[in-house]
Amino acid sequence: MNARTGVTYTPGASDFSIETNDDAQQVKLRIYKDGLGGKPVKTVNMKRAQAGIWQATVKGDLKGKFYTFDVKYGGKFRGESPGIWATAVGVNGKRGAIVDMADTDPRGWSADKRPSIAAKDLILYEMHHRDFSIDESGGFIHKGKYLALTEPRAISHLKELGVNAVHILPSFDYASVDETRLNEPQYNWGYDPVNYNVPEGGYSTDPYKPEVRINEFKQMVQALHKAGIKVVLDVVYNHTWNIDGSNFQLTRPDYFYRKNADGTYSNGSGCGNETASEREAMRRYMVESVKYWVEEYHIDGFRFDLMGVHDIETMNAIRAALPSDIFIYGEGWSAGSCAYPGEKLAMKAHISQMPGIAAFSDCIRDGLRGPWDSDSKAAFLGGVKGNEESLKFGIVGAIQHPGVDYSKVNYSKEPYALEPTQMIAYVSCHDDMCLVDRLKASVKGITQDELIRLDLMSQTVVMTSQGVPFMLSGEEMLRDKKGVHNSFESPDSINQLDWANKERYPQVFKYYKDLIALRHNHPAFRLGDAHLVRKHLEFLNAPAGTVVYRLKNYAGRDDWRDIIVILNANKTATEVTIPEGTYTIACCNGQINEQGLGTLQGGKAVVSPQSALILYMTKPR
Ligand code: CA
Repeated sequence: MNARTGVTYTPGASDFSIETNDDAQQVKLRIYKDGLGGKPVKTVNMKRAQAGIWQATVKGDLKGKFYTFDVKYGGKFRGESPGIWATAVGVNGKRGAIVDMADTDPRGWSADKRPSIAAKDLILYEMHHRDFSIDESGGFIHKGKYLALTEPRAISHLKELGVNAVHILPSFDYASVDETRLNEPQYNWGYDPVNYNVPEGGYSTDPYKPEVRINEFKQMVQALHKAGIKVVLDVVYNHTWNIDGSNFQLTRPDYFYRKNADGTYSNGSGCGNETASEREAMRRYMVESVKYWVEEYHIDGFRFDLMGVHDIETMNAIRAALPSDIFIYGEGWSAGSCAYPGEKLAMKAHISQMPGIAAFSDCIRDGLRGPWDSDSKAAFLGGVKGNEESLKFGIVGAIQHPGVDYSKVNYSKEPYALEPTQMIAYVSCHDDMCLVDRLKASVKGITQDELIRLDLMSQTVVMTSQGVPFMLSGEEMLRDKKGVHNSFESPDSINQLDWANKERYPQVFKYYKDLIALRHNHPAFRLGDAHLVRKHLEFLNAPAGTVVYRLKNYAGRDDWRDIIVILNANKTATEVTIPEGTYTIACCNGQINEQGLGTLQGGKAVVSPQSALILYMTKPR
């Protein structure tokens, strides 16, 4: 039995197969001319090859046709679906499509290769297709589409900024955008999966033609790869759009979902249901699905939505099944309680049991901006004392480090990562308020000057962290969402990037660019190895509201012998004690210049308010 069911096309005949529960009584295969509407041109009773496996071969050239399965249980047909393994679909994903996948490859696709970038060297840029390119100010031809990312203006922006991986919000086929009404503005993040193995039609130029979305998705990957940029897919296997009517439920009722003891569906996703990754066929499905995206679309990495809903064993099976350069990370939490033993779930606290998999650090995020449950509460950025250890936890990459007092960390009272590359460092993402809105909501009486200072300082913490840094697209242009906390279905006016901001706040973009270059140019900031972090990174005594650390003795064979990073959230200039020596100033008061902004004689250093000061010495003292 092929691990992937669905359809296998050849010009002479198409083979169909589907897995069902063992008690399925009959399966009808229907062939259609179109992806929506019309009567079947052929109906076939599939043959039961063995319990739970049904097959049919339809002779003739079916290319361009569509199909559905309809499974009968307890004397009733459940309803038509494309099954769970459609790799091409018609509009809105209602029917599978029969395509020759070779027809979907853009020119030169066979030569496309995943860029070689080690996990420690990644800089992740999280984006939504529509946010990025829908506004007129961006000047994109293919507004809100996959193809926008093939346009020179997109590529040159990403290259100029210096990020080397784009993490695209859900781009598999999801439900909440009606693909038959794309002439109207419709917005959704897309966390409502329908067909896991097909690109979303709403981002294609023609969702009615099944090969178009596949081809355009591949063009996007190809263009980014040519620029040396990896493509990470946000995957949402933890829940489906609905239960009744989901492809899972129509083919294998109640197999794929966890239930509570009382028979109700468990809701660890907070979206009405939760899948059961621990079950053999669900685990196999997840493994095969990610393998498929790597093989067919050359995807470089996966971000698992609510990874904490999945079980550890499944995440490890996924890790084992994928090439080692595929980067895997996820949200190490769930959105409700799961109907599965907590100690077996892929939570961030268990990340040491999942080598080669990373988890987002809410410790550093909330240590910086404030707690997730209240937008108006500030933390380090707002001058709230007591968050220093949470920052330090994130700076070392959530590993065991003698300089961190774990008892004072906001959430994690012990280290969880084996290696710093198992932690994602970030201050904002698509969820919750973006950085500008959060600063405005949480720092009382904040001025525009302070807003920019704190924005730049917070990303300095992220980009100099030993974890893998991650940023939300548009932060480099001081984006805001007009204060909207959860913009998952807000209109474009809330979500879109205003590209005029790039010129409006040139000092912000320049700082981000220089900051990213600083990380690229200096291996000391990305040691990628827990032993090296413990050996070379030491925290220095620092006044409240500041964090000071040193990367010493040519960390990571850096050109710079010693590097001092001073983060000051105080509203006043603050004096800190640093080792004696003559230092060159690389970052000061919202400016970065690796050649030097001046020199400083050690012993004492005074840091400007709400800013980072980075110093280095190249020679022995
Ligand atoms: Ca869709």
